This record gives sequence, structure tokens and C-alpha cells, in this order.
Amino acid sequence: MAATQVVQSRRIVTEIPGPKSRAIQERRSSAVAQGVGSVLPVYVERAGGGIVEDVDGNALIDFGSGIAVTNVGNADPRVVERAAEQLARFTHTCFMVNPYEAYVDVCEALNRITPGDHEKRSILLNSGAEAVENAVKIARSATGRQAVVVFDHAYHGRTNLTMGLTAKNMPYKQGFGPFAGEIHRMPMAYPYRWPTGPENCGPEAAAMVVDQITKQIGARNVAAVVIEPIQGEGGFIEPAPGFLPAVAEFCRANGIVFVADEVQTGFARTGDMFACDHEGVVPDLITTAKGIAGGLPLAAVTGRAELMDAVHSGGLGGTYGGNPAACAAALAALDAIGSDDLVGRAREIGELMLGRLRELASRHDVIGDVRGRGAMIAIELVAGEDKAPAPEALAKVLAHCHSQGLILLSAGTYGNVIRMLPPLVIGDDLLHEGLDILAEAFGRL
Ligand SMILES: *Cc1c(COP(=O)(O)O)cnc(C)c1O
Repeated sequence: MAATQVVQSRRIVTEIPGPKSRAIQERRSSAVAQGVGSVLPVYVERAGGGIVEDVDGNALIDFGSGIAVTNVGNADPRVVERAAEQLARFTHTCFMVNPYEAYVDVCEALNRITPGDHEKRSILLNSGAEAVENAVKIARSATGRQAVVVFDHAYHGRTNLTMGLTAKNMPYKQGFGPFAGEIHRMPMAYPYRWPTGPENCGPEAAAMVVDQITKQIGARNVAAVVIEPIQGEGGFIEPAPGFLPAVAEFCRANGIVFVADEVQTGFARTGDMFACDHEGVVPDLITTAKGIAGGLPLAAVTGRAELMDAVHSGGLGGTYGGNPAACAAALAALDAIGSDDLVGRAREIGELMLGRLRELASRHDVIGDVRGRGAMIAIELVAGEDKAPAPEALAKVLAHCHSQGLILLSAGTYGNVIRMLPPLVIGDDLLHEGLDILAEAFGRL
């Protein structure tokens, strides 16, 4: 069974969204809860490579990957074939009732490719939030401690615990409390906004974190430090060099479980298999999801065998976790990442994008910062010397890009960051065309 091939060129035949999308949107408003938003309500017909085709026959350039999910594309034939083959044999038995080999295969693969060559175990789940929840459960159970440390600008999900771990109130937390206890928030090493300058940011931020944990919580009360090695929803904040290794070392010295939330950064996205690899940081536990299975819902916690195995039998699990079709898709996606050298491709994408965006920034003062690694690149929009966030400029730029058929997402605590997350299988021509549209949008500000 071959996946539908999608022509790799942009094509705009109606206004965006077109009449068919608008008609479905109309029905949606009386069928779907208002609380679920959509960045660009064009309804999708098919997608593949760097293109998303809508029901009106428009073909849009994809700079979003369904939020860093379709690293191997939306319809990689190997993923589709392997998942379909599994679906035809059986859809579900529940791994906790009757297990199947693909679950074990995925865990073996994760244990092999995640940072560190220590003995590891994995558990499979459905969503990133569920993975983070389970990492905290495992860390608490293994250490007998309760406190969890997180950071400014963090995003870890929308369940009760992970809302508590997430920093930003609107839209993620407003009205949804009370939140879980024993969550402590620390400063993030945010180089662009560090008061004494980016060169001091790493060591100063690490010292503040150590001081606050020691003085305010007590290191021996901390079960886990949970951190995104590059923050995603928070605005693609790449911590200053030295920060992650220093925090990881403090954890090691104090028996604290260092949890890297690589739900957004994992699986070649940043030009390394995992973002922690960049500075050689080896987390005790790592949470993964988004890019793991070519678009099928799957998530995991992988980590040190002695921590993972500390939980009593039956203490972890879930009805759907590690669904067989999702496992089959993951095995194909992981093969594709390796055999197509998507780590290398992500680096090429990063060089191309950073080069063009730095040039763009030199012509537009509103672009205060260009940052990121691999195919996880952002620009932060500001007004004036004091770097005041400029969300209005962002809204104008995004509206123009969307109208021209470029799928582009925002991010950031202040809503002033444009983030770019193209599928790693996108062609250079589409990257350039998308960046041309972006440049045009800044020209019109
Ligand atoms: C998206 C995300 C999550 C939540 O994943 P879901 O699958 O949406 O629950 C958690 N952590 C990070 C870093 C994310 O980017």
C-alpha cells in the first residue's frame, strides 16, 4: 500500500481559508468545544513532505510539522505501510493484558538511542503530558521525596500536574486550578533577556538555581528537576552554554532525578538525536513523544534501570499506552530517521534558516533575536531598546504568511516569538519560498 504522493509545490487557488474550509469551520463552531483553537483553520485533505493540501485544493508550505511531530513527514510510506500492516493484524490487546513484541522493540530502540550508555528501561504512553506525569511518579517513588523543580517559561502539558509544571497562565492554566503542590519554579538561563548579558547568563542562572533549591526547598527534599533542554512553547529558549550541565551536575551530587523533557526537541529535530546530546548532558530520565512515531500518538519515559524498576509492579501503565499501530509506526519512523540521516538534514535546515533569518534581522529592527538549533528555529519580535515584546507585529506577520499559504506558529511567554519547525524531509526550495514569504511579511509591516 503506497502512501499518496503529494506534489511538493505551493499552490494557492482560493483565499485562505477557502470556501469549503469556511463551511466546515461553520459546522465546527456548533459541534466542537470552543476551548480547542486552531492556528490556521484550513481543513486538511492530504499532506506529505513539506506540503499540506486543504479541501479547497490549496497546497500550503508546512513550517509547523503539527507542532514538531511529523519529523519524517505526514505520510512517509514506510511508516504508513508498517502501521497499516499492524492494524490489519490486530488493533489493540492492551499491553497490560496480552503484550506484543513491537512494544518491546520500541523500548529497546529508545534505550539504545537516548543519551548515555547505562542500563535503561522504558515505558510507553499516549501523550507528552502523560510521559511527564509518569516521570514525576517514577522520580518520587524511586527517591521517596516529593518536591519537583521546574523553570520560568516551561511547558510540560495540560493535565493537572503538568499544568502546574507549566509556567504560562493564559491560555494553559487560567481557571483550571487548584494545581498540585510541591512544585517550585526557578529562573531560566534565557540569554537574550539576561540582565547582565548573554555571556554571564549560564553560570549566573545556574548559581541562582542551586542557591534557591538549597535555601528555599532543601536539596534532599527534591525528587526531580524537570527541564526542556530547549524550551518549546516558552519561545525556543536555548539555555546559555553551561547551564544544563551545571544543573545536571548539581542533581547528580544531591540524589535528585534530572528529567529532560524532550517531547518537542527529540528525534533529530535540533540537529542531534536529542537536544541533550549537544552539551553531552545525560539525563536520568527522558520524556519523549511528538516526533517519535511519524504522527501516531505515542510517548515514552526512558531512564536509568534502577529508577525505572523502583516502582512496584502494576504502578505504571494505561489502557492504550504503547498501542501496537503506534509502536509499528515508531519503529518505521526511527528507521527512517537513521537511514535518511535526518540528524544531518536538520543541521542543514538550521544553517539555511539561520543564515537567511540573520540577514532578515539585519534589515528589520523588530527582529530582536534569531535563535535555535537544527529545524527548531525562532525569531523574537521586540520594539525599542528595552526589548519590549511586540506581539502586534507578530500577529501582522503571521496573518500575511497564512494568507500566502505558509503554515507558521507563534510561541513565547509574551506571545512575540515566531517558531519554525519544518518537517525534516522538506526540500530547500520550499524552505526558501517560505522564508521569502516571511521576508515579504516583514517588508509590509
Ligand atoms: C507538547 C509538549 C508536551 C505535552 O505533550 P502532549 O502530547 O501535548 O501532551 C510536554 N512537554 C513538552 C516540552 C512539549 O513540547
